[in-house]
Amino acid sequence: MRIGIIGGGISGLTTAFLLKEKGFDCVVLEAAQTSGGCIQTDTIENRIYENGPNSLLLTESHLDLINRLGITNELLEAEGVNKDRFILRNGKYRILPSGPQNFFSNSFFSWSSKFKIMTEFWRKNKPSSEIESLYDFINRRFNDEICDYALDPFVSGIYAGDAKKLAVKAAFPALYEAEKEYGSIIKGMIKSSKKNKEKGAPTQRKKAFSFKKGLSTFIDGLSSKVEVKLNTKVVDIKKEGDQFKIITDKDTLLFDKVIVTSSAHTTAQFIKNLLPSISKQLNNLYAPPMCIVHSVYKKDDIERPIGFGGLNPLLEKTFTSGSIWSSCIFPNRAGADEVLVTSFVGGVQRAKNTLLSEDEIKSNVKLELAKTLDFNEEPVFQKIYKWEKAIPQYSAEILKLWDDLETNAIPNLYFNANWKGGISVPNCIDNSIKLVDSLDK
Ligand SMILES: Cc1cc2nc3c(=O)[nH]c(=O)nc-3n(C[C@H](O)[C@H](O)[C@H](O)COP(=O)(O)OP(=O)(O)OC[C@H]3O[C@@H](n4cnc5c(N)ncnc54)[C@H](O)[C@@H]3O)c2cc1C
Repeated sequence: MRIGIIGGGISGLTTAFLLKEKGFDCVVLEAAQTSGGCIQTDTIENRIYENGPNSLLLTESHLDLINRLGITNELLEAEGVNKDRFILRNGKYRILPSGPQNFFSNSFFSWSSKFKIMTEFWRKNKPSSEIESLYDFINRRFNDEICDYALDPFVSGIYAGDAKKLAVKAAFPALYEAEKEYGSIIKGMIKSSKKNKEKGAPTQRKKAFSFKKGLSTFIDGLSSKVEVKLNTKVVDIKKEGDQFKIITDKDTLLFDKVIVTSSAHTTAQFIKNLLPSISKQLNNLYAPPMCIVHSVYKKDDIERPIGFGGLNPLLEKTFTSGSIWSSCIFPNRAGADEVLVTSFVGGVQRAKNTLLSEDEIKSNVKLELAKTLDFNEEPVFQKIYKWEKAIPQYSAEILKLWDDLETNAIPNLYFNANWKGGISVPNCIDNSIKLVDSLDK
């Protein structure tokens, strides 16, 4: 049995590696010159720039996979020096409370919000509808301040999205289920963690990691273990008896099973004939543009110490949705006397900012870093990478797409992409593990 995997990002490569471990014969078809998809590391003059994900929140099962690839020695854990998350409020970065230990002493939230958080456990109100937005859901359980100054910046940081347009059931299913089953998010979280402990499930403590030479080490490790056909773009899939005929821009290949891991808009193109209505829905799935702007400063020019990163709520009317202070998390990202800051321009709420010229974008980022972080000197270097379609939005429409995928399922054709089952890299790995576990020879 031969399996064709479309797409050589983390989903496709992990699936191929796990299939190979299980003894399956498979090949990855990748349209680009290199594999990795969203994971792209650029190394220029000893600085390491991530154009996609910057760090990954990994559990023991992910670390086990990395160990099987033989690249554990290359792992780099995020510096523990600063776990604080900063949120811009009235033009200045302020620390969010990081847990119960500083919940009362921290003055970020008003007393009325603190009261809402403390009493959520007991608060009754009408249950969520299937398509309730994330913003309405959190507003119903808490209040405007928590939505605008905690939810909004985090959602734009994770999804490049707008909490008013994401469906809670699709984007944060655990929150939706917690309220549905227990009547409260906090009660649901406590109960499910108790249940897991009783079941003896291993505690899945997450830690932030990258690799010494950046995240592309992960991609190189996987690619070296599996067969990947680069520069091979799939343009059509046909059913041919019990098999699938995959037509690429080079040749035609036959497979017994096909696993699709490509992005929504590219998948839409090659399943047009096989699954026309799914193709239309994938085409309509919005993935906003996003520019990643790397700015390098001389350490001596930076007056204040910085930490993990800062997020900007929409109410603050900023140009960027925030920045990650990359060389504070992984010091080898820039020279010992430098600071590398990675800023995010675009996403659903600020898509129009990506239409400016590269020079205008760089200049706006520079001005904003000066205003919010007191980076008043000129950066020694700036670099931009633009994603035309960065992250698929888990809006109410995606729930219908998932239902229709089940109703129209074609035996031996599987979809394992970041528009289904979670957008984070760890989600993609977990979904690949689940899929491969379900396949028998
Ligand atoms: C800017 C940015 C920042 C992010 N930050 C984080 C983060 O910090 N942490 C985190 O966990 N996640 C983050 N993510 C999300 C995460 O990186 C992605 O969701 C994940 O990497 C997707 O992997 P994938 O393999 O499913 O898809 P992709 O990476 O999109 O890979 C799909 C592959 O399919 C190929 N392909 C497409 N069409 C065809 C075709 N017709 N034929 C053959 N091949 C094709 C593409 O070239 C691509 O290589 C970020 C994403 C972006 C864009």
